[in-house]
Amino acid sequence: MALVNPHGKEKKLKPLLLEGDELKEEKERARTLTDVRMTSRETGDLIMMGIGGFTPIEGFMGYEDWKGICDEYKMTDGTFWPIPITLSTTKGNADSIKIGEDVALVDEESGEMMATMTVKEKYTIDKVHECKKVFGTDDIEHPGVAKVMAQGEVNLAGPVKVLSEGRFPEEYKGVYMRPEESRKNFEDKGWSTVAAFQTRNPMHRSHEYLTKIAIEICDGVYIHMLLGKLKAGDIPANVRQNAIDALIENYYVKDTITVGGYPLDMRYAGPREALLHALFRQNFGCSHLIVGRDHAGVGDYYGPFDAQKIFDEIPEDALETKPLKIDWTFYCYKCDGMASMKTCPHSKEDRLILSGTKLRKMLSEGEEVSDKFSRPVVLKILSEYYQGLTEKVEIKMHKYAEGA
Ligand SMILES: [Zn+2]
Repeated sequence: MALVNPHGKEKKLKPLLLEGDELKEEKERARTLTDVRMTSRETGDLIMMGIGGFTPIEGFMGYEDWKGICDEYKMTDGTFWPIPITLSTTKGNADSIKIGEDVALVDEESGEMMATMTVKEKYTIDKVHECKKVFGTDDIEHPGVAKVMAQGEVNLAGPVKVLSEGRFPEEYKGVYMRPEESRKNFEDKGWSTVAAFQTRNPMHRSHEYLTKIAIEICDGVYIHMLLGKLKAGDIPANVRQNAIDALIENYYVKDTITVGGYPLDMRYAGPREALLHALFRQNFGCSHLIVGRDHAGVGDYYGPFDAQKIFDEIPEDALETKPLKIDWTFYCYKCDGMASMKTCPHSKEDRLILSGTKLRKMLSEGEEVSDKFSRPVVLKILSEYYQGLTEKVEIKMHKYAEGA
């Protein structure tokens, strides 16, 4: 059996990154073009187009695609797509760009020239409509809504030629993987069914349990880490990586699990984002996506299982990649093992459940965390990180005070 097909009618990966002489020439040309600056979210989306993670789209989307996706989950050619992938700019900038003109897309944080785009369309959107459809809310407190509402007034659309993958290949060497690389990795292992596990955190026993359920069903599991920008208080990628590596080395059968990373920012769009997660995992070669409780959620905006239910509401043939729906998992003292809401008949007092905040507090104060919650090899790495943190934070604050 072969891996799942890439998304789209052609069933073929469409990376938009240029290579060799073509890349060199386009980089030269880009220097002569008007710049359009991209936010971190837009840059992440662009790199995904570059590596083929967003196959089959060919650039930032136009109005009809935007509308079709908001209202009916599909592009004008009928291809299923759950979240509009758009680029915005100020009205002033948009006015200075002519239709048909080529522009250079620059990452606003690094200043790096990331792509060129032929502007085919300039349009304004109803941002509130997009937020209500995509996030289910227009509450400005929602971090995804805040980003849409802060966008420029005009969207620019057109095909892109990608020039760079930015900081990712260097900063995450050995982890950052293009879809063609993950597919080769799976094929080399002889896998045809692969479950993706989405994470931006270290893995505790509940996550180990989820992935091991998936290993019973599929040939292997792909731990797919989000490498986009982290919020303050999140664990840095290298610490997370060490903790995950230690867990895998000690508790998994060799060649049942592999780790990779992708360049997107979180949108926190809950159910719609779960669909996008499944869509691009299909491009990376995964037949399944593990969808647990409150996948890609934030705060109380979504019901705990909305991200599972939405897969029943889309057409059967929308995606080849299917969800592996698993209930909330934890250690239960009465079951004397890992369990879920679906399998454990006991009450919440019998279950070991720690919030992220409580865990951080315990680790930073050197308090002992139960090995029923997390493996000792993982806890050791995390507590070393947290206990060294106070000092690092102070150093940072000091530098900041000096204006460094
Ligand atoms: Zn129980």
